[in-house]
Amino acid sequence: MIYAQIKSGHKLHLALEGGEVDREGVRIERGMLSHPLCGQRMTEPNYRMTINVPLANACRKCRAIAAKQ
Ligand SMILES: [Zn+2]
Repeated sequence: MIYAQIKSGHKLHLALEGGEVDREGVRIERGMLSHPLCGQRMTEPNYRMTINVPLANACRKCRAIAAKQ
C-alpha cells in the first residue's frame, strides 16, 4: 500500500501496489496502482506522485479502510 496524490495540493489517498489484492480479490498488476481505497474518482490518468510515508493531510476514509485490512 502506498500514499498517492492525484493533483498538486490535494490530499494523499492510499492505493494498492502491484501484487496486492483488493477487497474484491482482484490482484493489482505489476507496476500498476489501484484507484484510491476510498473510491475517490481519478480525474487524471495517473497519480501525480506517490510516497511511502503518511503526511498530515492523508484522506481519512482511505486510512479507515486501510486500518480494517
Ligand atoms: Zn481517499
